[in-house]
This record gives sequence, C-alpha cells and structure tokens, in this order.
Amino acid sequence: MDNLHLASMDLAQLKALLAAWGEPGFRAGQVCAWLRKGARPQEMTNLPKALRQRLESLPYGGARIYDKRRSQKDGTVKYLFELEDGNLVEGVLMHYHYGNTLCISTQVGCRMGCAFCASTLEGCVRNLEPGEMLSFIHCASQDEPQADGSRTVTNIVLMGSGEPLDNYDNVLQFLRLVSAPAPEGMGISPRNISISTCGLVPQIWKFMEEAPHVTLSISLHAVDDESRSRIMPVNRRYGLSELLPAAKAYAEKTGRRVVFEYALIQGQNASKQDAARLAALLRGINCHVNLIPLNPVKERGLQGISRENAHQFAGWLTEKGVSATVRREMGADIEGACGQLRRRVLEARKGEDQP
Ligand code: SAH
Repeated sequence: MDNLHLASMDLAQLKALLAAWGEPGFRAGQVCAWLRKGARPQEMTNLPKALRQRLESLPYGGARIYDKRRSQKDGTVKYLFELEDGNLVEGVLMHYHYGNTLCISTQVGCRMGCAFCASTLEGCVRNLEPGEMLSFIHCASQDEPQADGSRTVTNIVLMGSGEPLDNYDNVLQFLRLVSAPAPEGMGISPRNISISTCGLVPQIWKFMEEAPHVTLSISLHAVDDESRSRIMPVNRRYGLSELLPAAKAYAEKTGRRVVFEYALIQGQNASKQDAARLAALLRGINCHVNLIPLNPVKERGLQGISRENAHQFAGWLTEKGVSATVRREMGADIEGACGQLRRRVLEARKGEDQP
C-alpha cells in the first residue's frame, strides 16, 4: 500500500491505513465518503485536525484543470487536466438530453499504435491511477455545477486517450469505485458507463468475469484481418476470429448489447461491399454499430467521409438487419478528437523551450 495515493484508496484500504494509525473504525467510512466527493484532507471538516494533517502528508493523486475550451456549437467542453507529476491528459464533457457524459482518458498517451489515432503518436507515458480518473469527474462537476444541484456527470465513457484494458487493474478499481454506492463509491450505475477497447482479447474474457457489467465498445474499423492489421497493430496479435467470439460472449454474459465502433475511412472501409461484409461478420452477436466519420489527423494523412455518406452506410447495415447509427459530431470546433488538444499544447511548449 506504500505507493498508493489517497484518492485511489477503497474502503478496505482506508480501514487498514486508519487502523494502523490507531483511529476508530468509523473514520474510514467518513474519509472514503469525502474522497468520493473529491474533497482534499483539509476540507474533511468532521475529522479531528490531527487526522486531517496526517492525511494531508500522504500523496493525494488527483488532477486539476489546466485548460478548457467550450464549443460554440453544442456546449461540449474539452478539458486538459494536469496531474500531480505535470503530465497532461484530456477529457470531454458532452451534453445530451438525458444528462452529461464525461469522456475519460485511461493512460497518458497510448501504446496500441492505431494508424488513425493522435493519442498513440508518442507512445504511452504512464497508466492513470483510479484516483486520477475519479478526479476528472470531480473537476468537471465542480467546474460545471448543475443549476438544480443534481449531479453534473451522469454518464461515463472510457474513450479518451489510452487503452483501458492495457491499464486493467487501475481501470477495474476505478469502475468499482465509481459504481459502488456511497460511501465506498460514487453511485453511478454501470448501465451509464461504457468502456472502449481496441481488442485485447484475454482481458475482455477476464473483464466479463470481474468487472461491473458496463457497456463494452469494441473499436473494429475494418471487416477483415488483413486491413484491420494494417491500421490496428493489435489485430496481428488477436485477430477477428478471437475477438468476435469474445464480444459475443460478453453480450451473452452481461445481457448488454456490445457496441462496435467503426470509423469510416475514405477509400478503405466505407463501400457498400464493406457494409455487407460487416453485417455478415456481426451476425449472431447482440450488438450495435456506432459509425464515426473519421476525424482527420494531420500527422496521419487518412481522410474521413461525409456525414451524408456515413448515413448511407448506416442504411446499408440496417437493411441487413444490423442496428447502426452515425455518431453525433460534438466539439468539432474545439479539437474534440482524442489527443489533439494535448498535442497542440505539447507542441506549443516545445516551441517555447527552443532558444
Ligand atoms: N483505446 C480504446 C479507447 C480510446 S479511442 C479503443 O481503441 O477503443 C476511442 C475511439 O475513438 C476508438 O474507437 C478509436 O478507434 C476512435 N478514434 C481514434 N482516433 C480517431 C479519429 N481520428 N477519428 C475517429 N475515431 C478515432
């Protein structure tokens, strides 16, 4: 427990810590409830001052807002969060009619190497800790309080930078802490949480046994192994014949529809024939296809297709009996796509560093 930051601790860990300090048993629940509200030790007003000070001497492991941009079009807020070691990660708060969704990063950078993604261009710097991911929710909630006092963040998607299943243990602890009822957790229902993976198959099997039953999204983006391996190196390790059975099993085990994300790339995967092959591939899986017109990444030279053509592609899938929608474009004017705002800031910093 030596390296564990305060913000990441669960009730059992807090109990062990406070028992070792000779504190009465009920204190752990009090501290836990405060932590899940995003409080720092000095704000934990029902604790004795000496205990607050002792807690304050521990590393906290949270985040703060470093930069923020709001879309003029749809009110989407893009955050750049700063971690205690100075690393920067992104988050996006999106407003829907049913509530607000916060898109959370799970790593600083990413090592999966997908050809179209800005997050992976400079590899993975480090994993995020559970408390850091919780802290993004607290930052956004404090920054955008609801007029009626209700909770700001009602839904969570682990679809920011990083591969969540490559940071398995921390993501699992985060999901437990965010979904458990108070005081242990934040009480956000697993039904309102999605996790997106590029397809780490062994972890998907483990995840369906161990994690709260959240919605699983799988970034598919191609209809055969050859083309998928070209844009997603992970496919060379775990091909479609392993990935799709794992997806099917997840849907069956959890009773929840699996979502396949499919970024439409000009000239590569967006033809009528591709739609037919996609429909054939997904037959028998309780699923939904989320079509994403590719966000062009200037470093990569891949082009998206028009929204009109994306809707046509969705129509081809529906004709074949596959449920499909085109993802709403949000925050296009604020570099909503993964990794883009962080890259701009890092590039600007590099520029400043030069003599
Ligand atoms: N590593 C996880 C989650 C992060 S990315 C995963 O791969 O699923 C969230 C989604 O955005 C993924 O489906 C990813 O493939 C997609 N994505 C990344 N870059 C994109 C881009 N330039 N345009 C459209 N979608 C992109």
